[in-house]
Amino acid sequence: CGIVGVVGSRNATDILMQGLEKLEYRGYDSAGIFVTGSKNNSLVKSVGRIADLRSKIGIDVAGTSGIGHTRWATHGKPTEDNAHPHTSTSGRFVLVHNGVIENFVELKEEYVADDVFKGQTDTEIAVHLIAKFAEEEGLATLEAFKKALNVIKGSYAFALMDVETPDVIYVAKNKSPLLIGLGDGYNMVCSDAMAMIRETSEFMEIHDKELVILTKDNVEVADYDGNRVERESYTAELDL
Ligand code: GLU
Repeated sequence: CGIVGVVGSRNATDILMQGLEKLEYRGYDSAGIFVTGSKNNSLVKSVGRIADLRSKIGIDVAGTSGIGHTRWATHGKPTEDNAHPHTSTSGRFVLVHNGVIENFVELKEEYVADDVFKGQTDTEIAVHLIAKFAEEEGLATLEAFKKALNVIKGSYAFALMDVETPDVIYVAKNKSPLLIGLGDGYNMVCSDAMAMIRETSEFMEIHDKELVILTKDNVEVADYDGNRVERESYTAELDL
């Protein structure tokens, strides 16, 4: 189980796939990537090895930003539908998650109709909640994400994209590992520094219950109430 994301890169697909290969050691049963750019959006998922995912990726899967995931199933079988990234019904919101949403059954009952769900994961409720708060209640993406985070209980590392703003990745964590990697003209987010060391040696921590807005040349950290947090980056020379 692992997450990787990149924004502002010339070749997002390569960076995501290399990142996922580096995360393989954490264990996984399926994997997927979402890549977006000025031309098109691509979502590719596969059960099995990262090599199986790679074999499904054509040259048309190209873009400047994206998110990827290796899944270690906790709720729902390792199928393609249950593999991440998960998307909202509209296709506008795309999300990856590590961890366990403990109150997903209660949240489903309270907020989202059964026929909306494509799979059986605990994760999928998160993307539908964000879509509901944004599309039905009219909240901006950041506010919709915050509102979802305030009702979700459990452990998580989330990376969220809104196809209407493909140059932004929204990130939050609680009790699951996740950190930022700072590049020259691009930025990354990942479960493990090892999956980013080909691209950068400059990192920034994310603490539990912090929300990060990541663009190619900016990293904004805040708590769930919107209070800005100042965070220094650090350099770590790790061996490949
Ligand atoms: N609980 C989620 C699922 O079963 C995420 C698992 C993971 O961390 O890979 O899909």
